[in-house]
Amino acid sequence: MKLLEQMVKNDGKVYPNNVLKVDSFINHQINPKLMLEMANSFYNYFKEKRVTKILTIEASGIAPAILVANLFDVPMVFAKKSVPSTLTRNSFYESTVHSYTKNVTNNIVVSKDFLSSEDRVLIIDDFLANGQAVLGLADLIRQAGGTLLGVGILIEKSFQDGRKLLEEKNIEVCSLCRLASLENEKIEFNLADDEK
Ligand code: 5GP
Repeated sequence: MKLLEQMVKNDGKVYPNNVLKVDSFINHQINPKLMLEMANSFYNYFKEKRVTKILTIEASGIAPAILVANLFDVPMVFAKKSVPSTLTRNSFYESTVHSYTKNVTNNIVVSKDFLSSEDRVLIIDDFLANGQAVLGLADLIRQAGGTLLGVGILIEKSFQDGRKLLEEKNIEVCSLCRLASLENEKIEFNLADDEK
C-alpha cells in the first residue's frame, strides 16, 4: 500500500537490531485515516473468503483488527497476554509466544466462548517478524478446531523468518508493506501483497 510505504519512509525510525519504530502513526499515536485505508485493503484482498471472525493479539493489533471486523460485519477477538481472573481453569485456549524483540515469552489466551470449530478466522496483526505471534494465534484456532483462512499484516520484515514459516504451513499472507532491509538505517521495500 503506497500510503503506508510513504509514511514508513517519512516517519518510521530505524532502531538497533533491525527494529522499526512507527509510534507516531501505528503503535502509540494512531492515524485513523491510514488505519481505515489499511482495513479496506485487507477487506478487498480477503473478501471472497467466508470470514466469521477476526483474531488478533493485544495491544497493537486491536486497532486494525476492529476496523477489518467492521467491514466483514463479524466479531473481533483479541488474545490476551495474561489470564483474566474471571476466566476459570479449562475455560480458555492457551499458547505461548516468544518475542525476540522484547526477549520475553508470553502465554496468550482466548476464552473458549469466543473461538469454535465453526469459526473461519482471519488473523490481523501490526508486524510480522519471526512469525511467533501469528503461529501462537494459529495454534489457538487449531485448538478450537476452527479454520485459519489467512493473515493480514501491516508491516512485514521480509528479511526475518516469519513469512517463510507461514508459507511453509500453506498459510496465505497479505502484507501491506514489506521491508526488504533496514541495514544502515536505510529502509528498502519489496512489492506489497496488495499491489501484486
Ligand atoms: P514476531 O512474533 O513475528 O517475531 O513479531 C511480531 C510482534 O513483534 C509484533 O506484534 C510486534 O509487536 C513486534 N515487532 C517485531 N518487530 C518489530 C519492529 O521492528 N517494530 C515494532 N514496532 N514491533 C515489532
